[in-house]
Amino acid sequence: NAAFNVATLRNDFPILKREVHGKPLVYLDNAATSQTPQQVIDVFSDYYSRYNANIHRGLHTLSDEATAAFEATRHRVKAFLNAEDARQIIFTRGTTEAINLVAQSWGRTQLAAGDEVLISMLEHHSNIVPWQLLAAEIGFTIKVIPVEANGALDLAAYRALLNERTKLVAVNHVSNALGTINPVKEMAALAHQQGALILVDGAQATPHQMVDVQDINADFYAFSGHKVYGPTGVGVLYGKKALLEAMPPWQGGGEMIKTVSFDVATTFAEIPHKFEAGTPAIAEVIALGSALDWMDSVGVDAISAWEAVLLNHATEEVSRIDGLRILGTAPNKAGVLSFVVDGAHSQDIGLLIDQLGVAIRTGHHCAQPLLHHFGVDATCRASFAAYNTLEEVDIFVAALNRVIGMVR
Ligand code: PMP
Repeated sequence: NAAFNVATLRNDFPILKREVHGKPLVYLDNAATSQTPQQVIDVFSDYYSRYNANIHRGLHTLSDEATAAFEATRHRVKAFLNAEDARQIIFTRGTTEAINLVAQSWGRTQLAAGDEVLISMLEHHSNIVPWQLLAAEIGFTIKVIPVEANGALDLAAYRALLNERTKLVAVNHVSNALGTINPVKEMAALAHQQGALILVDGAQATPHQMVDVQDINADFYAFSGHKVYGPTGVGVLYGKKALLEAMPPWQGGGEMIKTVSFDVATTFAEIPHKFEAGTPAIAEVIALGSALDWMDSVGVDAISAWEAVLLNHATEEVSRIDGLRILGTAPNKAGVLSFVVDGAHSQDIGLLIDQLGVAIRTGHHCAQPLLHHFGVDATCRASFAAYNTLEEVDIFVAALNRVIGMVR
């Protein structure tokens, strides 16, 4: 891709110039968190040095400026997801909090004993545990969509599981553990045919591909700032307007009310403020807007295409390694290479490869049921971002070969 210049784009990321154990950093843990461009880092010092103030409390210049920048990000996210209306964008602490919001507000009022919630074998713990906590209180049933041997969801099984008791399908768009891209648009249509809603966990999709919530016809869509080149501490819940308007608040406090009284019922603000109790992560939200601008300036489609090149190269190269098994070989995959190696513990590989400057993730990737399904407790995972290079993939593969030689 001629328009996509990795060397230039890397200059935006100061951290990529650092060394680890005397070796140039090769950062391949992007599915856990992505690095942050200087433009986004600068938002923090600009905010705290020029217009730090609480928002929505107006009547002075700094507060007005902070409010305007904060609300501008809401419009920025609306465009990023192609939402109908900026009021459908709710700022949360991250994907985890967005899913908990849906569970505690929508789930607590709409689910009853006898109902079924469908999740998938591919889910991150953040899209499992909130439903388990609520199911323990309410008594609805959680059903699990199985995966095929290659890590793709078993869609025939999904169709068979859907029935008139199904109230919600909660599924990730891209698996963080295997990289599988799920056909969420098709899954949404099938859920809707049964009168069920669909919540899509977009934590791993938003960094890697264009997302259009209207095209998917998602009822809820969640993602995290820190995986889209933005800061930690901020994420987004998108919801269909009628749903959000009908849902009760889940946290009470300042900012989310219309009137508070000891004598008559307290009344609540309109969406999105109804779901944003307390002072939010103001600088983080504004910085998220800047991160999405950065992605836009590079081009999300160009990022997708480049990461596919990286993934293909890495897949080809590691496939030559004796006794290495890749988990997740579905034809539709994004930016993640998960593997185990005969005779070498993932933990040992992770620790030793770090000594060579290469950062990968080892462990269960917050997807214990999935890993157990594949008969392992841990994998090594290399995951890619826009700024990774083919040379870095080669350094990683050479380092991996060296490490395997050491531990076997
Ligand atoms: N879902 C998926 C698929 C993820 O990869 C992650 C982060 N690893 C999460 C949810 C949770 O995101 P956060 O920790 O930012 O809330």
